[in-house]
Amino acid sequence: MRKNIIAGNWKMNMDYTTGIGLFSEIVNMVNDEVMGDQQVIVCPPYIHLNGMAQLAKSQNNISVGAQNCHQADKGAYTGEISAEMIQSVGVKYVILGHSERRQYFNESNTLLAEKVNSALKNNLKPIFCIGETLDQRNSNSHFEIIKNQLQEALYHLLETEFQNIILAYEPVWAIGTGLTATPDQAQEVHAFIRKEIEEKFGQSAAENVSILYGGSCNPTNASELFAKADIDGGLIGGASLKSRDFLDIIKAFNRG
Ligand code: PEP
Repeated sequence: MRKNIIAGNWKMNMDYTTGIGLFSEIVNMVNDEVMGDQQVIVCPPYIHLNGMAQLAKSQNNISVGAQNCHQADKGAYTGEISAEMIQSVGVKYVILGHSERRQYFNESNTLLAEKVNSALKNNLKPIFCIGETLDQRNSNSHFEIIKNQLQEALYHLLETEFQNIILAYEPVWAIGTGLTATPDQAQEVHAFIRKEIEEKFGQSAAENVSILYGGSCNPTNASELFAKADIDGGLIGGASLKSRDFLDIIKAFNRG
């Protein structure tokens, strides 16, 4: 059965010392307070990955993820970091397709398909983000957009490869805006995504894929969102930078 997952996306925040301090605090709080079997994944900037992966080594339910990777294993790509390098420090996950990468760095579905391939080849599990802009929702084209994102970036995979993918539905209009999709709005899209996955990869893949919700999720709205049948956790931005808020979101998962 699919896993319940809470992933934190720190984005470009936290200097090294503050970040390691925050992660240590999160590890201690999860050990002291979390009783369920939720998986916690924290995705910091690259500089923290090595130190945090060391701290996570002895933890069953806490792992570390990167926020991006380059599609090549190595080469003359100044400033870039590959999936091969990321996994070499003990990291298990990588966020791909975040709307900020799509918007500010022009990442297309075609490029993301290459990044997914590189991540999988190097034993990193992608947390693959999909979602519509406000204009796309207002023009009722959100289902088509999401289907297209899935088709172009993931539908070349074999079912056995797809089993390593975590999906995150993140309506772009809800990211960092304080606007959250209502639990019913989110559930409607999550159910649509699961149906699409079933059509492409079969019933077992659809039942087993974790689909996270992301977009201004906080300790107040988390439990209502996570109570929905097809919402298997959250990808948390702003609230993952405060240990108390992040823990309360993790604990809001009462299906664990
Ligand atoms: C995100 O960046 O993936 C995100 C969901 O951000 P926030 O929770 O701040 O809306």
